[in-house]
Amino acid sequence: MDFDKIRTKSKRIRRQRAWLFFYAFAVTAALIVSVRNNNDVEASTPKNLEISKMMPEEFPEYAAASADENLDVYEVDDDTSFVSNTDLDGMDESVATQEVSAVNENPVNENVVTVAQGDSFIGILTGMGLEYADAHHIYTVFRDVFDARNIKAGQKLYIASVLNDEDSVLVEKVMIEPVVGTRYIVEKDENGQYQTRTEQDEFLDDIKTISGVIDGNLSVAMGKAGVPLNVVGNFIDIFSFSVDFRRDIHAGDKFEVRYERQLAPDGSVVKTGDIVFAALQLGKDKYELYRFEDKSGNADYYDEKGLALKKNLDRKPMEFKKARISSRFGRRFHPILKRYRGHDGVDYAAPAGTKIYASGDGVIAMAKWNGGYGKYIKIRHNAEYSTGYAHMRAFAKGIRPGVRVKQGQVIGYVGNTGLSTGPHLHFEVIRNGQKVNPLTVKAATGENLKGDK
Ligand SMILES: [Zn+2]
Repeated sequence: MDFDKIRTKSKRIRRQRAWLFFYAFAVTAALIVSVRNNNDVEASTPKNLEISKMMPEEFPEYAAASADENLDVYEVDDDTSFVSNTDLDGMDESVATQEVSAVNENPVNENVVTVAQGDSFIGILTGMGLEYADAHHIYTVFRDVFDARNIKAGQKLYIASVLNDEDSVLVEKVMIEPVVGTRYIVEKDENGQYQTRTEQDEFLDDIKTISGVIDGNLSVAMGKAGVPLNVVGNFIDIFSFSVDFRRDIHAGDKFEVRYERQLAPDGSVVKTGDIVFAALQLGKDKYELYRFEDKSGNADYYDEKGLALKKNLDRKPMEFKKARISSRFGRRFHPILKRYRGHDGVDYAAPAGTKIYASGDGVIAMAKWNGGYGKYIKIRHNAEYSTGYAHMRAFAKGIRPGVRVKQGQVIGYVGNTGLSTGPHLHFEVIRNGQKVNPLTVKAATGENLKGDK
Protein backbone atom coordinates (compact mmCIF):
# COMPACT_ATOMS: atom_id res chain seq x y z
CA MET A 1 0.00 0.00 0.00
CA ASP A 2 1.24 3.50 -0.60
CA PHE A 3 0.62 6.52 1.49
CA ASP A 4 0.64 9.71 -0.48
CA LYS A 5 0.84 12.45 1.95
CA ILE A 6 -1.30 15.11 0.38
CA ARG A 7 -1.38 18.12 2.60
CA THR A 8 -2.32 19.33 5.99
CA LYS A 9 -5.79 20.63 5.71
CA SER A 10 -7.16 23.43 7.73
CA LYS A 11 -10.79 22.61 7.04
CA ARG A 12 -11.20 20.41 10.03
CA ILE A 13 -9.48 22.93 12.20
CA ARG A 14 -11.89 25.58 10.99
CA ARG A 15 -14.78 23.34 11.78
CA GLN A 16 -13.32 22.80 15.20
CA ARG A 17 -13.19 26.53 15.63
CA ALA A 18 -16.85 26.80 14.77
CA TRP A 19 -17.61 24.17 17.33
CA LEU A 20 -15.46 25.93 19.80
CA PHE A 21 -17.34 29.14 19.22
CA PHE A 22 -20.43 27.27 20.22
CA TYR A 23 -18.67 25.88 23.21
CA ALA A 24 -17.34 29.25 24.23
CA PHE A 25 -20.88 30.50 24.74
CA ALA A 26 -21.86 27.39 26.53
CA VAL A 27 -18.81 28.03 28.73
CA THR A 28 -17.60 25.57 31.28
CA ALA A 29 -20.98 23.95 31.78
CA ALA A 30 -20.91 22.70 28.23
CA LEU A 31 -17.50 21.23 28.76
CA ILE A 32 -18.62 19.49 31.87
CA VAL A 33 -21.74 18.19 30.16
CA SER A 34 -19.79 17.07 27.18
CA VAL A 35 -17.17 15.33 29.24
CA ARG A 36 -19.91 13.66 31.23
CA ASN A 37 -21.63 12.70 28.01
CA ASN A 38 -18.45 11.19 26.80
CA ASN A 39 -18.15 9.25 29.97
CA ASP A 40 -21.75 8.15 29.67
CA VAL A 41 -21.21 7.13 26.11
CA GLU A 42 -18.13 5.28 27.07
CA ALA A 43 -19.88 3.53 29.89
CA SER A 44 -22.88 2.57 27.84
CA THR A 45 -21.26 2.21 24.47
CA PRO A 46 -21.65 -1.12 22.79
CA LYS A 47 -18.24 -0.53 21.20
CA ASN A 48 -16.41 -3.05 23.29
CA LEU A 49 -19.20 -5.54 22.94
CA GLU A 50 -19.28 -4.94 19.23
CA ILE A 51 -15.59 -5.44 18.92
CA SER A 52 -15.59 -8.71 20.75
CA LYS A 53 -18.81 -9.78 19.07
CA MET A 54 -17.51 -8.79 15.66
CA MET A 55 -14.15 -10.34 16.23
CA PRO A 56 -13.89 -13.26 13.89
CA GLU A 57 -12.65 -16.47 15.42
CA GLU A 58 -9.39 -16.25 13.54
CA PHE A 59 -8.46 -13.28 15.71
CA PRO A 60 -8.83 -14.69 19.20
CA GLU A 61 -6.00 -12.56 20.49
CA TYR A 62 -7.97 -9.46 19.60
CA ALA A 63 -11.20 -10.81 20.92
CA ALA A 64 -9.51 -11.46 24.21
CA ALA A 65 -7.92 -8.04 24.43
CA SER A 66 -9.98 -5.33 26.04
CA ALA A 67 -10.35 -2.30 23.84
CA ASP A 68 -10.74 0.05 26.79
CA GLU A 69 -7.24 1.31 26.58
CA ASN A 70 -7.43 2.17 22.93
CA LEU A 71 -10.80 3.79 23.27
CA ASP A 72 -9.51 5.85 26.15
CA VAL A 73 -6.64 7.02 24.07
CA TYR A 74 -8.69 8.62 21.39
CA GLU A 75 -11.50 9.77 23.62
CA VAL A 76 -9.00 11.66 25.75
CA ASP A 77 -7.25 13.08 22.76
CA ASP A 78 -10.49 14.22 21.26
CA ASP A 79 -11.38 16.03 24.44
CA THR A 80 -8.32 18.17 23.94
CA SER A 81 -8.59 18.51 20.18
CA PHE A 82 -12.18 19.68 19.99
CA VAL A 83 -11.54 22.42 22.47
CA SER A 84 -8.71 23.55 20.28
CA ASN A 85 -8.82 27.08 19.02
CA THR A 86 -6.69 30.14 18.66
CA ASP A 87 -8.31 33.52 18.47
CA LEU A 88 -11.67 33.44 20.08
CA ASP A 89 -13.10 36.55 21.63
CA GLY A 90 -14.17 36.15 25.19
CA MET A 91 -12.24 32.95 25.43
CA ASP A 92 -10.30 32.25 28.55
CA GLU A 93 -6.75 33.15 27.61
CA SER A 94 -5.04 30.23 29.20
CA VAL A 95 -7.38 27.82 27.41
CA ALA A 96 -6.78 29.60 24.14
CA THR A 97 -3.04 29.37 24.53
CA GLN A 98 -3.33 25.75 25.37
CA GLU A 99 -5.37 25.25 22.21
CA VAL A 100 -2.79 26.88 19.95
CA SER A 101 -0.17 24.47 21.11
CA ALA A 102 -2.57 21.54 20.78
CA VAL A 103 -3.31 22.42 17.15
CA ASN A 104 0.30 22.95 16.30
CA GLU A 105 1.39 19.73 17.86
CA ASN A 106 -1.33 17.60 16.31
CA PRO A 107 -1.80 18.65 12.71
CA VAL A 108 -4.37 16.76 10.66
CA ASN A 109 -2.71 14.71 7.97
CA GLU A 110 -4.70 13.80 4.89
CA ASN A 111 -3.51 10.71 3.11
CA VAL A 112 -4.74 9.15 -0.09
CA VAL A 113 -4.24 5.42 -0.02
CA THR A 114 -4.61 3.52 -3.26
CA VAL A 115 -5.94 0.07 -2.44
CA ALA A 116 -3.61 -2.64 -3.70
CA GLN A 117 -4.50 -6.21 -4.57
CA GLY A 118 -5.08 -8.14 -1.36
CA ASP A 119 -5.40 -5.08 0.87
CA SER A 120 -8.12 -5.05 3.48
CA PHE A 121 -9.63 -1.95 4.99
CA ILE A 122 -8.60 -2.88 8.51
CA GLY A 123 -5.17 -3.89 7.23
CA ILE A 124 -4.71 -0.47 5.65
CA LEU A 125 -5.60 1.31 8.88
CA THR A 126 -3.42 -0.88 11.07
CA GLY A 127 -0.67 -0.45 8.48
CA MET A 128 -0.84 3.27 9.22
CA GLY A 129 -0.15 2.49 12.86
CA LEU A 130 -3.71 2.30 14.12
CA GLU A 131 -4.55 -0.25 16.80
CA TYR A 132 -6.52 -3.20 15.47
CA ALA A 133 -9.48 -2.58 17.78
CA ASP A 134 -9.70 1.05 16.61
CA ALA A 135 -9.48 0.01 12.97
CA HIS A 136 -12.14 -2.61 13.50
CA HIS A 137 -14.37 -0.13 15.26
CA ILE A 138 -14.12 2.28 12.35
CA TYR A 139 -14.94 -0.58 9.98
CA THR A 140 -17.98 -1.53 12.06
CA VAL A 141 -19.35 2.00 12.20
CA PHE A 142 -18.56 2.64 8.53
CA ARG A 143 -20.55 -0.45 7.58
CA ASP A 144 -23.67 1.59 8.27
CA VAL A 145 -23.23 3.25 4.87
CA PHE A 146 -20.42 1.28 3.26
CA ASP A 147 -19.14 -2.22 3.80
CA ALA A 148 -15.41 -1.67 3.54
CA ARG A 149 -14.83 -5.35 2.86
CA ASN A 150 -15.92 -4.37 -0.65
CA ILE A 151 -12.96 -2.11 -1.35
CA LYS A 152 -11.23 -3.04 -4.59
CA ALA A 153 -7.71 -2.69 -5.86
CA GLY A 154 -7.26 0.71 -7.46
CA GLN A 155 -9.85 2.48 -5.34
CA LYS A 156 -8.70 5.35 -3.18
CA LEU A 157 -9.25 5.83 0.51
CA TYR A 158 -8.98 9.36 1.85
CA ILE A 159 -7.83 9.16 5.43
CA ALA A 160 -7.46 12.14 7.76
CA SER A 161 -5.46 11.34 10.86
CA VAL A 162 -3.64 13.03 13.71
CA LEU A 163 -0.85 11.95 15.97
CA ASN A 164 -1.57 12.32 19.65
CA ASP A 165 1.04 13.33 22.17
CA GLU A 166 2.16 9.72 22.51
CA ASP A 167 2.68 9.55 18.74
CA SER A 168 -0.24 7.17 18.31
CA VAL A 169 -2.19 7.50 15.10
CA LEU A 170 -5.80 8.59 15.51
CA VAL A 171 -8.06 8.50 12.50
CA GLU A 172 -10.38 11.48 12.24
CA LYS A 173 -12.07 10.71 8.96
CA VAL A 174 -12.18 8.11 6.20
CA MET A 175 -13.81 8.73 2.83
CA ILE A 176 -14.24 6.51 -0.20
CA GLU A 177 -15.85 7.35 -3.54
CA PRO A 178 -16.45 3.96 -5.19
CA VAL A 179 -18.72 5.53 -7.81
CA VAL A 180 -17.96 9.01 -9.09
CA GLY A 181 -20.18 11.48 -7.27
CA THR A 182 -21.08 9.20 -4.36
CA ARG A 183 -18.88 9.50 -1.28
CA TYR A 184 -19.14 7.43 1.87
CA ILE A 185 -17.67 9.03 4.93
CA VAL A 186 -17.01 8.02 8.51
CA GLU A 187 -15.84 10.90 10.68
CA LYS A 188 -15.48 11.77 14.31
CA ASP A 189 -18.06 14.17 15.61
CA GLU A 190 -17.45 16.81 18.30
CA ASN A 191 -17.84 14.16 20.97
CA GLY A 192 -15.20 11.98 19.43
CA GLN A 193 -17.78 9.49 18.24
CA TYR A 194 -17.58 8.18 14.70
CA GLN A 195 -20.54 9.13 12.55
CA THR A 196 -21.26 8.12 8.98
CA ARG A 197 -22.80 9.96 6.10
CA THR A 198 -23.19 9.72 2.35
CA GLU A 199 -22.55 12.63 0.02
CA GLN A 200 -24.20 12.57 -3.37
CA ASP A 201 -23.22 15.06 -6.07
CA GLU A 202 -25.82 16.52 -8.34
CA PHE A 203 -25.13 15.56 -11.91
CA LEU A 204 -25.29 17.64 -15.04
CA ASP A 205 -26.95 16.31 -18.18
CA ASP A 206 -25.35 16.92 -21.51
CA ILE A 207 -25.21 15.57 -25.04
CA LYS A 208 -21.95 14.26 -26.40
CA THR A 209 -21.29 14.17 -30.14
CA ILE A 210 -18.66 11.86 -31.61
CA SER A 211 -18.01 11.28 -35.28
CA GLY A 212 -15.35 9.41 -37.16
CA VAL A 213 -14.23 7.54 -40.23
CA ILE A 214 -14.69 3.79 -40.36
CA ASP A 215 -11.59 1.87 -41.38
CA GLY A 216 -13.39 -1.40 -42.01
CA ASN A 217 -15.02 -2.31 -38.72
CA LEU A 218 -17.68 -0.01 -37.32
CA SER A 219 -17.48 -0.99 -33.66
CA VAL A 220 -13.67 -0.83 -33.68
CA ALA A 221 -13.78 2.62 -35.27
CA MET A 222 -16.36 3.84 -32.76
CA GLY A 223 -14.38 2.43 -29.86
CA LYS A 224 -11.21 4.15 -31.07
CA ALA A 225 -13.09 7.43 -31.32
CA GLY A 226 -14.05 7.08 -27.66
CA VAL A 227 -17.68 5.99 -27.97
CA PRO A 228 -18.54 3.92 -24.87
CA LEU A 229 -19.20 0.25 -25.48
CA ASN A 230 -22.89 0.32 -24.55
CA VAL A 231 -23.48 3.25 -26.91
CA VAL A 232 -21.76 1.33 -29.74
CA GLY A 233 -24.09 -1.60 -29.08
CA ASN A 234 -27.18 0.61 -29.17
CA PHE A 235 -25.95 2.31 -32.33
CA ILE A 236 -25.64 -1.04 -34.09
CA ASP A 237 -29.05 -2.11 -32.76
CA ILE A 238 -30.93 0.87 -34.10
CA PHE A 239 -29.37 0.52 -37.55
CA SER A 240 -29.87 -3.23 -37.75
CA PHE A 241 -33.15 -2.71 -39.60
CA SER A 242 -31.63 -0.72 -42.39
CA VAL A 243 -27.96 -1.67 -42.59
CA ASP A 244 -26.25 -5.00 -43.07
CA PHE A 245 -23.06 -4.35 -41.13
CA ARG A 246 -21.02 -7.12 -42.73
CA ARG A 247 -21.93 -6.23 -46.25
CA ASP A 248 -22.65 -2.52 -46.35
CA ILE A 249 -19.77 -0.98 -44.46
CA HIS A 250 -16.53 -0.14 -46.22
CA ALA A 251 -13.36 1.68 -45.36
CA GLY A 252 -13.88 5.42 -45.61
CA ASP A 253 -17.53 5.32 -44.51
CA LYS A 254 -18.42 7.65 -41.67
CA PHE A 255 -20.45 7.57 -38.49
CA GLU A 256 -21.82 10.19 -36.15
CA VAL A 257 -23.50 9.62 -32.83
CA ARG A 258 -24.98 11.99 -30.24
CA TYR A 259 -25.85 10.52 -26.88
CA GLU A 260 -26.95 11.66 -23.46
CA ARG A 261 -24.51 11.74 -20.56
CA GLN A 262 -24.52 12.56 -16.88
CA LEU A 263 -21.51 14.45 -15.63
CA ALA A 264 -20.21 14.90 -12.13
CA PRO A 265 -19.30 18.45 -11.09
CA ASP A 266 -15.65 17.69 -11.90
CA GLY A 267 -16.63 16.83 -15.48
CA SER A 268 -16.15 13.10 -15.22
CA VAL A 269 -18.78 10.94 -16.90
CA VAL A 270 -21.03 9.21 -14.42
CA LYS A 271 -23.40 7.55 -16.82
CA THR A 272 -24.16 7.38 -20.54
CA GLY A 273 -27.76 7.39 -21.69
CA ASP A 274 -29.76 7.10 -24.88
CA ILE A 275 -28.60 7.89 -28.37
CA VAL A 276 -30.52 10.95 -29.56
CA PHE A 277 -29.09 11.05 -33.07
CA ALA A 278 -27.25 8.47 -35.14
CA ALA A 279 -25.92 8.78 -38.67
CA LEU A 280 -24.04 6.60 -41.10
CA GLN A 281 -22.55 7.74 -44.37
CA LEU A 282 -22.13 4.55 -46.40
CA GLY A 283 -20.63 5.43 -49.78
CA LYS A 284 -23.15 7.85 -51.24
CA ASP A 285 -25.98 6.76 -48.98
CA LYS A 286 -26.65 8.69 -45.81
CA TYR A 287 -28.75 7.24 -43.00
CA GLU A 288 -29.86 9.55 -40.22
CA LEU A 289 -31.99 8.54 -37.28
CA TYR A 290 -33.49 10.68 -34.55
CA ARG A 291 -34.88 9.52 -31.26
CA PHE A 292 -38.45 10.47 -30.50
CA GLU A 293 -40.36 9.74 -27.33
CA ASP A 294 -44.16 9.72 -27.40
CA LYS A 295 -46.49 10.87 -24.63
CA SER A 296 -46.49 7.47 -22.96
CA GLY A 297 -42.70 7.47 -22.85
CA ASN A 298 -42.13 4.95 -25.62
CA ALA A 299 -39.10 5.92 -27.64
CA ASP A 300 -38.18 4.92 -31.13
CA TYR A 301 -35.95 6.12 -33.93
CA TYR A 302 -37.11 7.96 -37.03
CA ASP A 303 -35.44 9.27 -40.13
CA GLU A 304 -35.31 12.97 -40.99
CA LYS A 305 -38.73 12.80 -42.62
CA GLY A 306 -40.24 11.32 -39.46
CA LEU A 307 -40.56 7.89 -41.01
CA ALA A 308 -40.37 5.09 -38.52
CA LEU A 309 -37.20 3.12 -38.66
CA LYS A 310 -39.01 -0.11 -38.04
CA LYS A 311 -41.61 -0.18 -40.77
CA ASN A 312 -44.28 -2.77 -40.94
CA LEU A 313 -43.69 -5.25 -43.69
CA ASP A 314 -46.15 -4.74 -46.51
CA ARG A 315 -48.34 -7.84 -46.51
CA LYS A 316 -49.46 -7.37 -50.09
CA PRO A 317 -46.35 -6.00 -51.76
CA MET A 318 -47.64 -5.42 -55.25
CA GLU A 319 -49.04 -2.80 -57.56
CA PHE A 320 -52.34 -4.49 -58.21
CA LYS A 321 -53.89 -3.81 -54.83
CA LYS A 322 -57.10 -5.56 -55.79
CA ALA A 323 -55.17 -8.76 -56.34
CA ARG A 324 -57.20 -11.50 -54.69
CA ILE A 325 -55.84 -14.06 -52.32
CA SER A 326 -56.00 -17.34 -54.21
CA SER A 327 -54.38 -19.49 -51.53
CA ARG A 328 -53.70 -18.88 -47.87
CA PHE A 329 -50.93 -20.03 -45.60
CA GLY A 330 -51.21 -23.53 -44.16
CA ARG A 331 -52.28 -27.02 -45.25
CA ARG A 332 -53.95 -27.29 -48.61
CA PHE A 333 -54.48 -29.62 -51.53
CA HIS A 334 -51.80 -28.90 -54.11
CA PRO A 335 -53.40 -28.54 -57.51
CA ILE A 336 -50.38 -29.86 -59.40
CA LEU A 337 -48.85 -32.31 -56.94
CA LYS A 338 -52.40 -33.62 -56.27
CA ARG A 339 -51.76 -34.11 -52.56
CA TYR A 340 -52.07 -32.25 -49.29
CA ARG A 341 -49.06 -30.30 -48.22
CA GLY A 342 -48.24 -27.22 -46.25
CA HIS A 343 -48.43 -23.93 -48.06
CA ASP A 344 -45.71 -21.76 -46.65
CA GLY A 345 -46.85 -18.43 -48.03
CA VAL A 346 -49.85 -16.58 -49.38
CA ASP A 347 -50.79 -16.49 -53.07
CA TYR A 348 -52.07 -13.34 -54.73
CA ALA A 349 -53.64 -13.91 -58.17
CA ALA A 350 -52.84 -10.99 -60.46
CA PRO A 351 -52.30 -10.36 -64.15
CA ALA A 352 -48.86 -11.33 -65.47
CA GLY A 353 -46.54 -8.34 -65.46
CA THR A 354 -48.06 -6.71 -62.34
CA LYS A 355 -45.30 -4.90 -60.42
CA ILE A 356 -44.01 -6.61 -57.26
CA TYR A 357 -42.62 -4.38 -54.48
CA ALA A 358 -40.15 -4.95 -51.73
CA SER A 359 -42.21 -5.65 -48.61
CA GLY A 360 -39.76 -3.64 -46.49
CA ASP A 361 -36.31 -2.06 -46.59
CA GLY A 362 -33.58 -4.62 -46.97
CA VAL A 363 -30.91 -6.25 -49.05
CA ILE A 364 -31.51 -8.71 -51.88
CA ALA A 365 -30.28 -12.04 -50.51
CA MET A 366 -31.30 -14.19 -53.49
CA ALA A 367 -32.51 -13.49 -57.06
CA LYS A 368 -32.45 -16.64 -59.19
CA TRP A 369 -34.37 -19.63 -60.51
CA ASN A 370 -35.28 -21.67 -57.46
CA GLY A 371 -36.86 -25.02 -58.52
CA GLY A 372 -40.63 -25.12 -58.01
CA TYR A 373 -40.54 -21.44 -56.98
CA GLY A 374 -39.49 -20.48 -60.51
CA LYS A 375 -37.86 -17.07 -60.59
CA TYR A 376 -37.49 -16.21 -56.93
CA ILE A 377 -36.29 -13.25 -54.87
CA LYS A 378 -35.46 -13.23 -51.20
CA ILE A 379 -34.93 -9.98 -49.28
CA ARG A 380 -33.21 -9.85 -45.91
CA HIS A 381 -34.74 -7.05 -43.81
CA ASN A 382 -32.85 -7.53 -40.58
CA ALA A 383 -31.43 -10.23 -38.39
CA GLU A 384 -34.95 -11.50 -37.73
CA TYR A 385 -37.02 -11.09 -40.89
CA SER A 386 -36.71 -11.97 -44.57
CA THR A 387 -39.37 -12.13 -47.30
CA GLY A 388 -39.62 -14.36 -50.39
CA TYR A 389 -41.30 -13.75 -53.77
CA ALA A 390 -41.90 -16.68 -56.17
CA HIS A 391 -43.08 -17.47 -59.72
CA MET A 392 -41.92 -14.10 -61.12
CA ARG A 393 -41.92 -13.51 -64.79
CA ALA A 394 -38.84 -11.29 -64.54
CA PHE A 395 -36.72 -9.39 -62.05
CA ALA A 396 -36.64 -5.60 -62.15
CA LYS A 397 -33.57 -3.92 -63.61
CA GLY A 398 -30.58 -3.90 -61.26
CA ILE A 399 -32.04 -6.42 -58.82
CA ARG A 400 -29.31 -8.86 -57.86
CA PRO A 401 -27.89 -10.21 -54.61
CA GLY A 402 -26.34 -7.52 -52.42
CA VAL A 403 -28.44 -4.67 -53.76
CA ARG A 404 -30.21 -2.57 -51.13
CA VAL A 405 -33.90 -1.97 -51.71
CA LYS A 406 -36.44 0.33 -50.09
CA GLN A 407 -39.95 -0.63 -49.08
CA GLY A 408 -42.21 -0.22 -52.12
CA GLN A 409 -39.39 -0.36 -54.67
CA VAL A 410 -40.21 -2.52 -57.73
CA ILE A 411 -38.19 -5.73 -57.57
CA GLY A 412 -39.92 -7.81 -60.29
CA TYR A 413 -43.11 -8.76 -62.14
CA VAL A 414 -45.88 -11.31 -61.56
CA GLY A 415 -45.45 -14.45 -63.65
CA ASN A 416 -46.18 -18.16 -63.84
CA THR A 417 -42.71 -19.69 -63.55
CA GLY A 418 -41.97 -22.93 -61.58
CA LEU A 419 -44.80 -25.04 -60.16
CA SER A 420 -47.66 -22.67 -60.86
CA THR A 421 -51.09 -23.00 -62.48
CA GLY A 422 -51.53 -19.36 -63.38
CA PRO A 423 -50.00 -15.90 -62.93
CA HIS A 424 -49.71 -15.12 -59.21
CA LEU A 425 -47.30 -13.93 -56.57
CA HIS A 426 -46.38 -16.49 -53.94
CA PHE A 427 -45.28 -14.29 -51.01
CA GLU A 428 -43.67 -15.58 -47.86
CA VAL A 429 -42.38 -14.11 -44.63
CA ILE A 430 -39.44 -15.84 -42.97
CA ARG A 431 -38.83 -15.15 -39.32
CA ASN A 432 -35.62 -16.54 -37.81
CA GLY A 433 -35.49 -19.10 -40.61
CA GLN A 434 -39.10 -20.26 -40.15
CA LYS A 435 -41.82 -19.45 -42.66
CA VAL A 436 -44.71 -17.72 -40.92
CA ASN A 437 -48.15 -16.58 -42.03
CA PRO A 438 -47.68 -13.24 -43.84
CA LEU A 439 -51.26 -12.22 -43.07
CA THR A 440 -50.99 -12.51 -39.32
CA VAL A 441 -47.31 -11.91 -38.54
CA LYS A 442 -46.65 -8.74 -36.58
CA ALA A 443 -43.38 -7.95 -38.24
CA ALA A 444 -41.59 -4.84 -37.13
CA THR A 445 -44.02 -2.41 -35.63
CA GLY A 446 -43.46 1.32 -35.91
CA GLU A 447 -45.61 4.27 -36.78
CA ASN A 448 -44.49 7.23 -38.81
CA LEU A 449 -44.45 10.63 -37.18
CA LYS A 450 -46.79 13.26 -38.49
CA GLY A 451 -47.07 17.03 -38.19
CA ASP A 452 -45.16 18.79 -35.45
CA LYS A 453 -43.62 15.65 -34.12
ZN1 LIG B 1 -47.97 -20.21 -53.13
